[in-house]
Amino acid sequence: MILRFRLDATEEQVEELVQRLEGAGCRTRRSPEPGRAIVALLDRPPAALAAELARHPLVEEVVAPKGDLRLVHRSFHEQPTVVRAGGLEIGGPGVVVIAGPCSVEGRDFMDEVAGHCARAGAHMLRGGAYKPRTSPYSFQGFGVEGLAQLKDAGERHGLPVVSEIMDGAHLPAFLDHDVDCLQIGARNMQNFTLLKAVAAAGRPVLLKRGLAGTVEEWLYSAEYLCAFGCPQVILCERGIRTYEPATRNTLDLTILPLLRELTHLPVIVDPAHAVGVARFIPPLARAAVAAGADGITVEVHPRPEEARSDGPQALLPGELAGLVADLRVLAAVGGRGLAD
Ligand code: PEP
Ligand code: MN
Repeated sequence: MILRFRLDATEEQVEELVQRLEGAGCRTRRSPEPGRAIVALLDRPPAALAAELARHPLVEEVVAPKGDLRLVHRSFHEQPTVVRAGGLEIGGPGVVVIAGPCSVEGRDFMDEVAGHCARAGAHMLRGGAYKPRTSPYSFQGFGVEGLAQLKDAGERHGLPVVSEIMDGAHLPAFLDHDVDCLQIGARNMQNFTLLKAVAAAGRPVLLKRGLAGTVEEWLYSAEYLCAFGCPQVILCERGIRTYEPATRNTLDLTILPLLRELTHLPVIVDPAHAVGVARFIPPLARAAVAAGADGITVEVHPRPEEARSDGPQALLPGELAGLVADLRVLAAVGGRGLAD
């Protein structure tokens, strides 16, 4: 339940009602949005108080979003949330490009790829140090050493970094290495213990959609992050598993305009893990930006045949540069530009 106060409600009046709700055992959250006071009720108020709220003179509207969503819902925060990660704004006027290898593969390699990404115009460097692999025999990532290599390369080339975290026990390593944005991978979208642990760390989170996650389940996972202390959440569509085996997954762009209505959180698109084939990525990335995505994330490798993971879906550096140029044009068509 979300209370949207009248514009003329004073701070004291709002605070008094909030204190009454809290006193009745109903936890509240105040929207950070300036202007009208908006308060989300995390718990159900006692019946008499709920009835009073419905006709309260200070409350213009009581919104009951479908399901149990509160903090991620558009009625809690009318303006788009801008996520700030290492100086980069995601969800602001500029469309962002996140690029880098699937896995961190070594110090020199990271320096080389980060240089390519920066020169191509990417805004953030990605790279997995802890890899969620289907087979236990596949490369599992360099772990904490990979985080160090990623961060160093990002710093050398002026790019903030994002990397996947699979275990709350690894949080100190991510914070020690100042990873700017923590990625929750598709396979962990509903790992609620991980979501709670990561939320408490106070870093921005890039939350991928689960392989079979519905929009509602995905938003509940984002709600977990917000409820447990992290309002800086980026949603990332990365393809879902459907009946169609012709491509790795099915990229669901249909949800982009829907999410704009449902949530204030920024939404980016990962066409690489959806389609799995490098040459199909540029058209899908262009479609994502044309459909209003706040950014894309793609994988890049100068020698894809040598990649330790996801080589077939890695763009060559020159292909990334061409894609960034196209996205600049498409972002402008949508009345935006690329981020600086
Ligand atoms: C990745 O980004 O490298 C990754 C494993 O993605 P996903 O969780 O979407 O499969
Ligand atoms: Mn990958």
